Amino acid sequence: METVAGLAISRGLVAGPAFIYRADSLPAVPELDIAPEGVEGELARFNSARAEARRQLTALIGQLKERGGGGETDVFANHLELFDDVLLVAAVERNIRERHVNAEAAVRRAMGEFREVFARMKDPYMRERARDLDDIERRILRVLTATEETTLSQIDRPVIIVADDLTPSETVTMPREFVLGFATDRGSTTSHVALLARALGIPAVVGLGDISMRVKTGDTILLDGTGGTVTISPDEAAIAEFERMMRRSRELYSQLSGGGAGFVGLKDGTPVTLRANVQPGVPLCGLATFGAEGIGLYRSEYLWLGEDNNPSEEKQTKAYAEAARVVAGLGHGARVIFRALDLGGDKLMSGNLIREVNPFLGNRSIRWLLTHRDVFRTQLRAFLRASAFGPSSVMYPMIATRDELRAANEELERAKAELAAEGVPFDASIKRGCMVEVPSAALAADQLAREVDFFSIGTNDLVQYTLAADRGNEQVAYLYQPAHPAVIRLVDMTVKAAKARDIPVAVCGESAADPVMAALWIGLGVTSLSMGASGIPVVRKVLRGLSSTDVAELADKVRAMCDDSSAADIYGFCRKFLLERVPDFEAFQT
Ligand code: PEP
Ligand code: MG
Repeated sequence: METVAGLAISRGLVAGPAFIYRADSLPAVPELDIAPEGVEGELARFNSARAEARRQLTALIGQLKERGGGGETDVFANHLELFDDVLLVAAVERNIRERHVNAEAAVRRAMGEFREVFARMKDPYMRERARDLDDIERRILRVLTATEETTLSQIDRPVIIVADDLTPSETVTMPREFVLGFATDRGSTTSHVALLARALGIPAVVGLGDISMRVKTGDTILLDGTGGTVTISPDEAAIAEFERMMRRSRELYSQLSGGGAGFVGLKDGTPVTLRANVQPGVPLCGLATFGAEGIGLYRSEYLWLGEDNNPSEEKQTKAYAEAARVVAGLGHGARVIFRALDLGGDKLMSGNLIREVNPFLGNRSIRWLLTHRDVFRTQLRAFLRASAFGPSSVMYPMIATRDELRAANEELERAKAELAAEGVPFDASIKRGCMVEVPSAALAADQLAREVDFFSIGTNDLVQYTLAADRGNEQVAYLYQPAHPAVIRLVDMTVKAAKARDIPVAVCGESAADPVMAALWIGLGVTSLSMGASGIPVVRKVLRGLSSTDVAELADKVRAMCDDSSAADIYGFCRKFLLERVPDFEAFQT
């Protein structure tokens, strides 16, 4: 038995069989010299493996289409044509005929050479296709070596997914009803799997080193998404103790009601709005289950990721209108805040985006939208059309300058004018928001506050850019510090600038789901928090235990500490403060 520690990213305890998934696993390939009389046989093996791999992929596309996957199949459809690429096939055959190597080695060498050629090409589209070759190579080699492919779509019973990492395109094929938990080698508090796990309320631990190499499919593991551990090969005593903890945790969480009438904020009645972060593809029923007062961050880019590279205005309108209808049904003034397409950084569309040397500082997000005005306009039209179905707002991601914000607002006005001329209904007074996730936006928040109706602070990116620490890289996860004095000062400045213009400020980064940080943000003057829906009940419970005087005192003390304290000091102080003031606080930390 061994307990491995990682990062706790989605609360809850779960025990169950592991399902191992490694995206990068290539079968081991033997390199053999072939006698001249063996050449024809190897050529035949290669060509029949190619045909079989093509058949398997065609079948997978068919299955996805049947499941209603629609655009999700485009990624794979691009790969199909590569199986018959004349140059590629000729290169493999040449390796067999002239170098006298077996089919497996011939495929590996040819793919390696092609990858290098593609990678050197000037055309970014062609450079991107080097990645498609990996997929083709893996499929042909699996057939040749009779190694079964593991896909998440194979899951047909409740399992804990143990993976190296998971990308959005991998999770689209996963039957979510069977996923008990996630444990991954890599990842951070804001990686894709973290966002997904929290949205679905599934326990998860990431950054576990090489766990996917140490556990086999079917092994029982114990996953503690609150404490951030995974126990491998547990003995009977450990299983019994874990089951006791699971019962206790269930009892504790069953006391936390979901919505409840009135959506009280702090102890003294000061309202605090708690909304959910959602992404297309995640069921919206979680909003009512966890008592969300609407959607504070609709991550629209998931309509693009791993799926359809260019969803039509109709397709987008349908998805957005569904969200607007659902929040309208929640009542209590619930609304949905649609965030414009936030592509780039780690959110890459297959095929279409230019691969940049430094994508987090590159042509991403609002920058990309302002250089792809047709995409931007279409999306804004779809947001506006959806606003006819329920209370909606629009917000722009990654704003770094006032000019960007003005350009985005102008585009919104153009979209409105078009729809008005076409007689299409929409909310003409739709509220516009600016995300504050770049230090320049926080430092110049006074300028930006004049251009919009609200701010929403994206602490996932704000922390990343302030501390210059990649949010998805577990090696610098120690620098990922929402309680760093620099971050707190930026949030404080943003709130002050917003107050001067009388506009509200939300926090929609994942720090909002940490009750310690949530209390501090509210103390600093933030009035709304948005997080993975499953985080809402605990945050609500903790905030209900505090008065506005409590949180103001907390914020004042922290402001004073910023001159001479580390993130750990500040976080520790806040935690202690809550332990003293909030009944049962300790119980919700374990
Ligand atoms: C953020 O950066 O905090 C945020 C909410 O946006 P995302 O995590 O989608 O980048
Ligand atoms: Mg962001």
